Amino acid sequence: MLVEVALPLPLFTTFSYRADGSYTNPIVPGARVVVPFRNRNEIGVCVGLTEVEDEARRYKSVVEVPDAEPAISSAMLELCRWMASYYVVPIGVVLRGALPAALTGAETPTPSQKTRRVVVIANELASLMHRDRIFARSKQQRALFELLESLGGRSPVEHLVERLSFSASVLKGLVARNLVTIEEEIVIRDPFAARPALTTRRHSPTPDQQRAIDTISAGAPGEVFLLHGITGSGKTLVYIEVLERIVRQRGQSAIVLVPEIALTPQTVDRFRHVFGDAIAVLHSALSDGERYDAWLALRRGEKRIAVGARSAIFAPLANLGAIIVDEEHEGSYKQGESPRYHAREVAILRARNEGALVVLGSATPSLESWTNATSGKYRRLSLPDRVGGGRLPSIDVVNMRRTPMRESQAPPDPFTLVVSDPLEQALRDRLAKGEQSILLLNRRGYAAFVQCSQCGDVTTCPNCTISLTYHRTPERLVCHYCQHKEEPSPRCRRCDGDTLRRRGLGTQQVERLLSERFPSARVSRMDVDTTTGKWAHADILDRVGRGEVDILLGTQMIAKGLDFPNVTLVGVIDADVGINLPDFRSSERCFQLLSQVAGRAGRGPKGGHVLIQTRVPTHHAVVCAVAHDYSRFVEQELEGRREPAYPPMTRLANVVFSGLRENETQQLAAYSAERLRRALAPYGGEISVIGPAPCPVERVKTRWRWHLLIKSTNPALLTRACRFLVEKLKVPKDRSQLRVALDRDPVSLL
Ligand code: ADP
Ligand code: ZN
Repeated sequence: MLVEVALPLPLFTTFSYRADGSYTNPIVPGARVVVPFRNRNEIGVCVGLTEVEDEARRYKSVVEVPDAEPAISSAMLELCRWMASYYVVPIGVVLRGALPAALTGAETPTPSQKTRRVVVIANELASLMHRDRIFARSKQQRALFELLESLGGRSPVEHLVERLSFSASVLKGLVARNLVTIEEEIVIRDPFAARPALTTRRHSPTPDQQRAIDTISAGAPGEVFLLHGITGSGKTLVYIEVLERIVRQRGQSAIVLVPEIALTPQTVDRFRHVFGDAIAVLHSALSDGERYDAWLALRRGEKRIAVGARSAIFAPLANLGAIIVDEEHEGSYKQGESPRYHAREVAILRARNEGALVVLGSATPSLESWTNATSGKYRRLSLPDRVGGGRLPSIDVVNMRRTPMRESQAPPDPFTLVVSDPLEQALRDRLAKGEQSILLLNRRGYAAFVQCSQCGDVTTCPNCTISLTYHRTPERLVCHYCQHKEEPSPRCRRCDGDTLRRRGLGTQQVERLLSERFPSARVSRMDVDTTTGKWAHADILDRVGRGEVDILLGTQMIAKGLDFPNVTLVGVIDADVGINLPDFRSSERCFQLLSQVAGRAGRGPKGGHVLIQTRVPTHHAVVCAVAHDYSRFVEQELEGRREPAYPPMTRLANVVFSGLRENETQQLAAYSAERLRRALAPYGGEISVIGPAPCPVERVKTRWRWHLLIKSTNPALLTRACRFLVEKLKVPKDRSQLRVALDRDPVSLL
C-alpha cells in the first residue's frame, strides 16, 4: 500500500511512501507519519492511501506512525484542503500550521507530558481498634493517613511534603506498610489557573442583548451573524449567553477568537469566570508543552471551549456548535507569513463544514463583513446603546495645525506642542478628582526620526527603506521593521553637520513630558517596549483596574477591549499617525482606532469625554469618528473604493517579488506581469493586473520588493491567476535569491 504524505515544504506536491513495516498505529488519512526525506526524518501527514504502485519507481518506507488516533480529523483535513487551494499554499504547510508545535518535530513524535507523583490510599482501615493497633507507635503516620482520608484518598506528594511539611520518611513508612501507594499522574499545565477569579456577578441581559442571544441561538447550521454593537454595548455578555446554550445546554463545543490574547485579559477573565474548567486559553505566552496539553484536553473533550488568537481556529474540537470572532475587523486575524490565511474567513468555512454558528462582533465592522451583511449573506444584529444607562462619550477635536512662529516669539514650551491646552486642563481635572485617563499615541520610541537640519538627511535603516526611530532608554536608533539597532551618531553622516534634530513624537517622549508636567501623577506606559515579559500586559492592566495608575499612555494596544469604569478621559495625542499611509485601508484603520479608543471612556456612571488632537480635522475618518457615525463612514469609504476598485468592491491578491538585488527583482516582477497578462487575455475585463510597481516600503531586511495586484470580482478566476503564477512561473535561482510571495485578501499593501 502507498501512503500519500504532505510534508511542510514549499512544494506543491505530496510524496508517496510504502507502508510495509509493522506499525503500532493504523495509517489513516489525518494520521501523522514519520518518513525519511533527504537523509533525515520528517513529520508529515497522511492525506490519502492507494493500492496502485508504479513498478518503475522505488519507494521509501514510512518509519513510524505515532498517533493512535489521527492528529488531524477528517473535518480538519477538509478545511486544510480548502485553505491550500484558496490561498494557493502547499497543503503540508497548512497542516503544519494547524498542529501544535510539539507535534511537528520528527525527533520526538510523541511529546512528553508533565507528570507528578501522587499518594493514594491502598488499604482502608475500617475499625478504630485496628487503626489504634497499626499506628500504636507511629502518631505521625496516623496523622498523614487521616489527612489523606480527609482529602478524598489522594494527594500530590509535593503538597504533603512541601506545603504541609510532612517528612518524606513518614510517607515512606506508610508505603512500606502497604497502606498507601505512589502513582504517576499527568498534570495539565495551565498558567491561567493562577489568575485571581472575578468576583462580579453576571448581569441579566437587556432586551437588545436578549434579542441577539435568542436570534443567534436559533440560527441555522453554518449561519453567520454580524453583531454590530457600539463600544460598551455588552457584546461579551451576548457571547457568554450564546455559549451557555450551545456548550452547557446542547453539550456542543465552541471556539472564541480574540485579536491578541495578551491584550484582552479582561475578556478572557469573564469567560473563565462563567465556564471555569471547561475553557482552554491558548495564550501566546504558553510554552510548547502547555500548548500541547491544552490541545490534548480539547481533543479528548475535557475542555470544550477554546479561547485564543487566530490559530485557535484549528482547535481540535469535535461537535462544534459555535465560533465567535470578537473584534472581527482586526488586522491581526490575518497571518503575515505563509499560509497567509484570514482566521475570520477560515472560521466561516469551518463552521459551514461542521454545521456551527458564527458570530462576528465589532463596534466598527470591517467593510467586507458589513457589505456581506447588507447583501444578506450574513445576518446583521445591532446593539445600538450602551448597557447600564451609559452613554457614548462626547468627543471634541483640537486642531493642532499651528500658525507659523514669528521670529520675535520665544521658543514654545515642548509640552504645549504635544499636549494642547484643553487636553492639559482635562488631565489636570481628572487628576484632581482621582479619575483615570487614557492617552493614545500610536508610535513607540522617543522620536519618530532623526534629521540633519543642514542637509535635510533623515537617518534610515541600512537594511530597509525606513527611517530609524530614536529610542531614549536605552539610547539607540531602532528599525521597527527589521529590529536593526545602532548608536546615534553626533554628526550627520552625509554633510558632517552637527545639528541633528529629533523629530516626530513617540510614547517615550510623551511619558517624559507628562511626568515633568505632572510630577505626582502615576503614569504607566504600554507599548511593545514595556511589554516584553510574558504577563507584562496583564500586570499593567491589572494595576489600572486596581486604581494604581492615573494616566495610561500607550500605542494601539490600549485601544482594545479595556473596560475600566473609572476612566473618564481619553486623549488622542496625534490622530494623524498612519492616516496618510499609501494603503487602501489607512482611513478605515484610523476610523476604527479612533472609535475603539474613544470607546474606552465613560464606561461607568461618571460618564466620559474624549479629546482628539489632529492636523486634519476635516478628514472623513476623523469627522465620522467624532460623530460616532459608523454608517456615514462606511458610505463614504465604500464610494472611495469604487474607482479604482478595492475590496470589498473587488477581490484582491497582492504578489510580492523580492530579492537581494534591485534589478533582478524588478525584472522578475515585469516578466511575471507580462506572462500573467498574456495568460489572462481571454478573460478581458473580468480580471486585471496592476503594476508592477515598487512596494510602498521598497526594501525590507536587505531585500528589494516589487509587487503586482491582481483584481477580480470572480474568486475562481482569481484563484486560477494565482495558481498560474505559483505553478507556471519559473523563479530563476541566482545570487539575488529571488522569491515570490502571494497574499490573497491582503489586509495591508505595505
Ligand atoms: P463591549 O464589548 O460591547 O464594548 P462589554 O461586553 O465589555 O462591551 O460590556 C461593557 C460593560 O457592561 C461591562 O462592564 C459589562 O460587565 C457590562 N454589562 C454587560 N451587559 C450588561 C447588562 N445587561 N447590564 C448591566 N451591565 C452590563
Ligand atoms: Zn530595518
